[in-house]
Amino acid sequence: MTTDYKSLAVEGVQGLRPYQPGKPIDELARELGLNEKDIVKLASNENPVGPSPKALAAIQGELEELTRYPDGAGFELKKVLCEKLNIQPEQITLGNGSSDILDFITRVFVNDGDNVVVSQHAFAIYGLVAKMVGAETVAAPAKNFAHDLDAMLAAINDKTRIVFVTNPNNPTGTWIKKDELITFLDKVPERVLVLLDEAYFEYVDENDYPNGLALLNQYPNLVVTRTFSKAYGLASMRVGYGVSSPEIADLLNRVRPPFNVNSFALAAAKAAMLDEEYVAKSIAVNNSGMAYLENEFNRLGLDFIPSVGNFISVKMPAGINAMAVNSGLLQEGVIVRPVANYEMPEYLRVSIGIEKENQAFIAALEKVLAQLGESGD
Ligand SMILES: *Cc1c(COP(=O)(O)O)cnc(C)c1O
Repeated sequence: MTTDYKSLAVEGVQGLRPYQPGKPIDELARELGLNEKDIVKLASNENPVGPSPKALAAIQGELEELTRYPDGAGFELKKVLCEKLNIQPEQITLGNGSSDILDFITRVFVNDGDNVVVSQHAFAIYGLVAKMVGAETVAAPAKNFAHDLDAMLAAINDKTRIVFVTNPNNPTGTWIKKDELITFLDKVPERVLVLLDEAYFEYVDENDYPNGLALLNQYPNLVVTRTFSKAYGLASMRVGYGVSSPEIADLLNRVRPPFNVNSFALAAAKAAMLDEEYVAKSIAVNNSGMAYLENEFNRLGLDFIPSVGNFISVKMPAGINAMAVNSGLLQEGVIVRPVANYEMPEYLRVSIGIEKENQAFIAALEKVLAQLGESGD
């Protein structure tokens, strides 16, 4: 065994560091010798409400068919998406999660030596998919944690193939207004694609918040992604989609593996899309949980970045290390997300949970901060 297989890997892969997901519940339960039920996981922006009963029933209805390949074209799901979103089936690319679409668009349009533009504090997957194809990721400085679209425009050069825009952004929860987005899209050269990631679209309730799908007709270089992992409560099913011009969708579908979305995911997503009650409940739980956490952060004198997503990033007090707080929270059975790798070393990102999870998080946070505050004196 003298072959160094790493040296044989394509260059982009050699330099790749795998995406760091939130710590799984069963892992922490094993470490602490606790029951999984006693762990509070607020680390991956999952829907805390539990699955839609209609989605569960749809999955059960598919079980007998599991020996068959799924419908590679996703006809039924696309039909519902078209009815609900006022788009055409030819515009849709289905993904095994919307992350799949980020991978497809990069593989279709980005060559070795090209670059992609993102914002500082942007979702980590963009840089990962770019690196895989040997492209550079140029991060434009953020402004008060939000995308600075002028800085992103200024970062575009001859080698830029895609600009990734996240609205709202994860992990900051900041968002872009409609007029700002339009001014930006007007200035991006048509040969540069704009990937508008709307993973948290359903949660946002702001008057000036743009619907990316409504802009597709005006901007042929625009691709919008959405997901069933968040407000639709299907993170484990892995289903998301891209919407674009039919021409771009055709290209994306050329690199899409033929059965990338399984039949359970297709059925569950269709059912969840039709379960308006479930989405409304998810949004209501999120709104009240967000209000509770903001209140508690204020009470504890903690700064936070106002968020329109289903998560919020909170700043640790001066002199208290966020990683130490994170470790303390884990000891209390609470999993949140440190965001030092997003250039936010003083912050922790917390997903909004159901009431008792939010309360457990605040109780644990208060305890850990008190402990660390004392030991720091
Ligand atoms: C959660 C999230 C996604 C969704 O990923 P899936 O692959 O659809 O589960 C996409 N973009 C951002 C910014 C996210 O936070």
